[in-house]
Amino acid sequence: MNKKIDHIGIAVKDLQKGIENYEKILGLKCSGTEEVSEQKVRIAMIPIQDTKIELLEPMQDDSPVAKFIENKGEGFHHIAIQVENIEEELERLKDAGIRLIDEKYRIGAHGAKIAFIHPKSMGGLLVELVQRD
Ligand code: ZN
Repeated sequence: MNKKIDHIGIAVKDLQKGIENYEKILGLKCSGTEEVSEQKVRIAMIPIQDTKIELLEPMQDDSPVAKFIENKGEGFHHIAIQVENIEEELERLKDAGIRLIDEKYRIGAHGAKIAFIHPKSMGGLLVELVQRD
């Protein structure tokens, strides 16, 4: 099965300031921003070769990303792995007794199918599965 790193998610308090950091300090270029209202975040995508950095800014205090920043501060949030068939992957993980945040995929930024694996199953690492059609 073909897998690759789809993107790396970074939690920020201020999206605009975050974009500026990546553009000024690292010389990268933001390719666009988007609101994902279901997850109460605004995101910015910053391509870097064949992967992306995804900046996540909470839109509300009860956003999971707001809680993350409150507990752990800004910075590394999750790694997203691209899969070919997310439903098959989720079935495989469920059968293996892996704890999932999302038993079924939902629709994330750019209409991609996404699901999160619980960090308790991954040594504290939050992993997002992404299927792009
Ligand atoms: Zn993500």
